[in-house]
Amino acid sequence: MHELTITESILSQVIAEGRKQNAARIRKIKLLLGEGMSIVPECVRFYFDMIKPGTLAATAKLEIETLPLRLRCPKCRAEIKEFVPACRCAAGVEIVSGQELTIEYIEIVASEKTTRFEKAKGAG
Ligand SMILES: [Zn+2]
Repeated sequence: MHELTITESILSQVIAEGRKQNAARIRKIKLLLGEGMSIVPECVRFYFDMIKPGTLAATAKLEIETLPLRLRCPKCRAEIKEFVPACRCAAGVEIVSGQELTIEYIEIVASEKTTRFEKAKGAG
């Protein structure tokens, strides 16, 4: 249920942005997801397809890029892998990346405008 709540929040942000941009529909959503967030991308995609019908994002494609969890020592900046310290500072752990949950961009289809051009009288 964790992923459903997150997916709903992503969808509502995307729809709000689409409305702001006067979108006729949303074509694509690019999401950045850090591994440290413990969110299963397949679940997000599943829930997204479940809740998108009838919204501006009904035909939107969801692309998820996962970013690895990277940790380092806050003192000497040595990277810590798999929670095994890489240095002797004993200064704890700092997160470099892996906690992202960001909408990188959305692609929209702008409102279709109808413009009528009338042929000038007597011309051609
Ligand atoms: Zn260190």
